[in-house]
Amino acid sequence: MRGITFLGDRKLQLAEFPDPTPGPRDVVVEIKASGMCGSDLAPYRATGETSSLGLGKVSGPVIAGHEPCGVVAAIGSAVDERTTRLGSRVMVHHYSGCGACRHCQTGWTQMCSSGSTVYGRTGHGGHAPYMKVPAYTLVALPDELSFTTGAAISCGTGAAYQALRRMNLAGGDTIAIVGQGPVGLSATQLAVAMGARVIALDVSAERLARAKEFGADAVINPKSDDAAAAIKTLTHGAGADLTLDASGSAAGRLIAVRGARKWGTACFVGEGGDVTIDVSPDMLRKQLTIVGSWTFSTTIQADCARFVADRKIGVDHLFTNRWQLAQADEAYRLFDQQTSGKGVFLM
Ligand SMILES: [Zn+2]
Ligand SMILES: [Zn+2]
Repeated sequence: MRGITFLGDRKLQLAEFPDPTPGPRDVVVEIKASGMCGSDLAPYRATGETSSLGLGKVSGPVIAGHEPCGVVAAIGSAVDERTTRLGSRVMVHHYSGCGACRHCQTGWTQMCSSGSTVYGRTGHGGHAPYMKVPAYTLVALPDELSFTTGAAISCGTGAAYQALRRMNLAGGDTIAIVGQGPVGLSATQLAVAMGARVIALDVSAERLARAKEFGADAVINPKSDDAAAAIKTLTHGAGADLTLDASGSAAGRLIAVRGARKWGTACFVGEGGDVTIDVSPDMLRKQLTIVGSWTFSTTIQADCARFVADRKIGVDHLFTNRWQLAQADEAYRLFDQQTSGKGVFLM
């Protein structure tokens, strides 16, 4: 089979790999949809070292793609039949760990004390026809959901869902969401479904227009407005109850910190980079809580899928581009501009 590998310097390759066969505790998933994630851009753009974001060393070419969704095509001899069956529709929680530490046992294998494998980064991912993973990484895809929705929930939408849970978002809250890429737009969509009032921010007019379509009550473009002041204007001078930075930029994080009200909470979900805050006025004197949120556990992934299915949330509308693997070059060249919506490879 052929899979997409990132070579750095905005180059990629469709490389030849042997078709995977499952070990005793593994399954092979026939991939139906494999999403493109903003965090793919780090290894895609990397100059030299492609194992950025501190997720470990990469040995040899690794198949990219960490939003895999498909059907079970082969099952190892030691996999309990209650875990999965041939033909089951599944998402993959795209990490594996030791299985014994407290993080693994609570479904947070990405935080494994012995170090984890991140599929699509340090282990072969979903941008290929088949993917081999331990059976415990599977999360059932509800019948009501498409494979593309399952792909989105496997990283971007799931990460947005957990970030909102992390802040205990309630229906009476006003939340400002900075960055309306795939994660921020998912957060907008989910927060609206949870009953919150959403103020959406992005430097792209195209992305702001989509945020409006997804239910944002108000939009702000930080290129033309003082964003923190604009958030205060929209909240009777107080600031937002909650703010979420999904941009991963220093400027975006500062808007999240400064746009939150006194006793508010700001959450950082966008990866990489840094931020400098003026601690006393920006944080202490506001009694501000700042939290970090990194993806989600296996059970939260399942909860997110259930929520999306029950509330009939149009996660598929996040996707503006559907690609074949052979179009990988064009797909990532467009995604690299960060003005469009989400892309997905369909197999
Ligand atoms: Zn991701
Ligand atoms: Zn572990």
